[in-house]
Amino acid sequence: MSGALPVATIRTEVPVPLRFPDGYTTTARVFSFHGLVDGREHLAFGLGDWSVALDRAAGGGPPPLVRPHSECLTGDVFGSQRCDCGPQLREAVERIADAGGLLLYLRQEGRGIGLYAKLDAYALQDAGMDTYEANEALGRGADERDYTVAAQMLVALGADRVALLSNNPDKAEQLRRLGVEVAERVPTGLHLSAANAGYLAAKVDRAAHTIDLPFVR
Ligand SMILES: [Zn+2]
Repeated sequence: MSGALPVATIRTEVPVPLRFPDGYTTTARVFSFHGLVDGREHLAFGLGDWSVALDRAAGGGPPPLVRPHSECLTGDVFGSQRCDCGPQLREAVERIADAGGLLLYLRQEGRGIGLYAKLDAYALQDAGMDTYEANEALGRGADERDYTVAAQMLVALGADRVALLSNNPDKAEQLRRLGVEVAERVPTGLHLSAANAGYLAAKVDRAAHTIDLPFVR
């Protein structure tokens, strides 16, 4: 990404009451946009006292809590145990609702390689590769996620200074390069299961994620 960040504008905003499978409920203000650079239908969810948090930040106060969450159909919707996306999404919604802020739901499945390729990568992982090696074996980048549209949405909503709820240093660095000030990086909780331990370990080893795994590698 070079040059100025292309301008996006708010297209529609509607209230959506949310109810998660464990019974947690909250109401989101859901935003769609014009002008997102990749033409996909990304969403922003304003949670808790999000507008108060944005006003406070604009007046020089603490930044709103923000999580860009990349779509994971298998984990977010079906509760796949191969990754920690579903529990991370659930945790993020509640923590952001408590603090006031934004969840960005980014339509970049499988680290940006798409749903079918993600399943192909799972097959390679079952043959012994880690998640990053598998993507590379498919001729794709280890991580193709791009946060340009996330930055566009944040700027459109007036949130160009954020506390980033993420363990991923690349996410923070990309947003900084795109002109979003990451005032603070707030780690997410640990969502470890027998099925996702190898996946979480690969995130730590290969991409320097800040996750405290309770086993020695
Ligand atoms: Zn996932």
